[in-house]
Amino acid sequence: MSNKDLNELRDQLDDINLQLLHLISNRAKVVQEIGKVKEKQGVNRYDPVRERKMLDLIESNNEGPLDVATVKHLFKEIFKAGLDLQEDDHKKALLVSRKKKSEDTIIDLKGELIGNGIPSFVFGPCAVESYEQVAKVAESIRNKGLKLMRGGAYKPRTSPYDFQGLGVEGLKILKRVADEYGLAVISEIVNPADVETAVEYIDVIQIGARNMQNFELLKAAGAVNKPVLLKRGLAATIDEFINAAEYIMAQGNGNIILCERGIRTYERATRNTLDISAVPILKQETHLPVMVDVTHSTGRKDLLLPTAKAALAIGADGVMAEVHPDPSVALSDSAQQMDLKQFDEFYSEIQKLNWVTV
Ligand code: PEP
Ligand code: MN
Repeated sequence: MSNKDLNELRDQLDDINLQLLHLISNRAKVVQEIGKVKEKQGVNRYDPVRERKMLDLIESNNEGPLDVATVKHLFKEIFKAGLDLQEDDHKKALLVSRKKKSEDTIIDLKGELIGNGIPSFVFGPCAVESYEQVAKVAESIRNKGLKLMRGGAYKPRTSPYDFQGLGVEGLKILKRVADEYGLAVISEIVNPADVETAVEYIDVIQIGARNMQNFELLKAAGAVNKPVLLKRGLAATIDEFINAAEYIMAQGNGNIILCERGIRTYERATRNTLDISAVPILKQETHLPVMVDVTHSTGRKDLLLPTAKAALAIGADGVMAEVHPDPSVALSDSAQQMDLKQFDEFYSEIQKLNWVTV
């Protein structure tokens, strides 16, 4: 074949490509028209029966040289492109996404604003063990001019024989201490049936890593008028994390704080691997405030300060860490909670960062 012939064939291909483009674009316009009619009629846009008929017609007319499977595959893509076109981008966007709302969501917890550009700090014991234990930590928090305290009343433990938390008694202790010390309190709820009761005692419902895809719990938390701190699941992708938040917001509750708390990887030097880049990704993709839990992500006291600095440097809205008056006798996470002296040192180092204004 001469070069001249080859060039002619190539010209033919270019011409066919342009014809195809023209046809595909025309098809898309007709699909848009159909979409408008369907919207008026209020009928579903995706119609599998109709799609089956279109494919059958194409199949029965296929004379080769492409085999039926290939032809069907190509047409399925064209159908899909048409369907995508019918959905307008704004409607398709998740409620938690920046596409839906460009301004940052700011959450007011008894005057402490989460997500307003000034970092917030949540400290407190892993588990509520007694009034005295919680009160000692609360005093130290208040003395630093801080506002937020955490403490687990329901503890999702790896072993069923480990301390499971004090339940409602724990919530009552948290409320009493929070009132006495003027703090807002965050506590994990593990059972959808407990959400209604919990809102009477706590200021933020925490949904823990193990429950990030407990959809009934997410829905229950979304149905009440109480901020939610949602932790990333141990093996959850960022997309799954965002969709878990969407479950809450879809029920009407948009006061959600996302909390990166490390994911499980093959690395054993830390308890989990802190996915620090998740912070700016979540900030870009959603309008929600993002916190970093340095205790459960690292499981190491010597890494609390450097990871907290990293979290703030990368744009986190806050940091969470566990503090216990006497960690060696703590009923959970004994190895990684700071004692009160370590807490003082940790916080004074954090304050040296010039973006902490407290
Ligand atoms: C906690 O914050 O008490 C806790 C159990 O954390 P996580 O769900 O992130 O493991
Ligand atoms: Mn803990």
